[in-house]
Amino acid sequence: MACRSEEELQSLVDDAKKVYFEGKVANYIPALQRESPDYLSCAIAYPDGNCISAGDIKKQFTLQSISKIITLALVLIDFGPEHVFHRVGMEPTGDPFNSIIKLETSSKAKPLNPMINAGALAVTSMIKGRNAGEKVEYIIDFVKKLTNESDIDYCEEVAISEFTTSFLNRSLCYYMKGDGVIHGNVEEIMEVYTKQCAIRMNCLQLARVGLIFSMDGVSPYTGEQIIPKDIARICKTFMVTCGMYNASGEFAIKIGIPAKSGVSGGIMGSVPDRMGIGIFGPALNEVGNSHTGMKLLELLQKKFDLSMF
Ligand code: GLN
Repeated sequence: MACRSEEELQSLVDDAKKVYFEGKVANYIPALQRESPDYLSCAIAYPDGNCISAGDIKKQFTLQSISKIITLALVLIDFGPEHVFHRVGMEPTGDPFNSIIKLETSSKAKPLNPMINAGALAVTSMIKGRNAGEKVEYIIDFVKKLTNESDIDYCEEVAISEFTTSFLNRSLCYYMKGDGVIHGNVEEIMEVYTKQCAIRMNCLQLARVGLIFSMDGVSPYTGEQIIPKDIARICKTFMVTCGMYNASGEFAIKIGIPAKSGVSGGIMGSVPDRMGIGIFGPALNEVGNSHTGMKLLELLQKKFDLSMF
């Protein structure tokens, strides 16, 4: 069973919104601080091309950590799993997304997985291109294919805001560079990373990206295999094991779908063969997941039995 009516979705959104005051908008990236915490919107895209939404569908937000799954797919397509997993691992950490601790305690500073910041920075260091501009354009071209839309771009203000305050992410890069795990210019990696995190879209576009992963990489709009099946499956597996930071285990139990969140308040869901979900609710819980978005997914799971387990 699937939610097909916008009224029904709107009533679940209204119920989920009631807990917004328990969450807090991210403030460590100064430009994200201005969002209103009581905002909540959701879109669901189905394999038959239909979609429904609730809330302001035009409202844009930046992908932040959701971009990590997109760049992971891109480097896996370009270099294959063996090359990529030589530099970044496959195991969940149980630590916060920006933690440095496991880099220091492993024999080499190889990040444990591509969904934590260290792993995502290592992935970004592999993106093809002669300079930061080409690399960012390459990522955005891929996002245009995934969303089936040509007007995708990044938000300069959010990118600059993070670039100028991202001391911890720079430290992660230098630590990995010092151990020979990543190569290249750290400032360039930081420029590409902060711009990929600042790619903006609305819920509907995000739901469409989620749908491509749920359809094993095939675009229901063009029929094109945009991501090879085995790579789409690797990405979905990371969404289950590490997509919701150090709350991924609880999320798998309570909701049970591949999903990836970002500190802007976005959540992308990919219910295998059934639907892509895009949510934006900037009030975050203590681990950095959208508090209202989690509530909404719980309500959707209860009502439509989304769990794949
Ligand atoms: N750009 C953010 C950072 O690196 C992304 C983190 C997130 O969304 N959890 O801190």
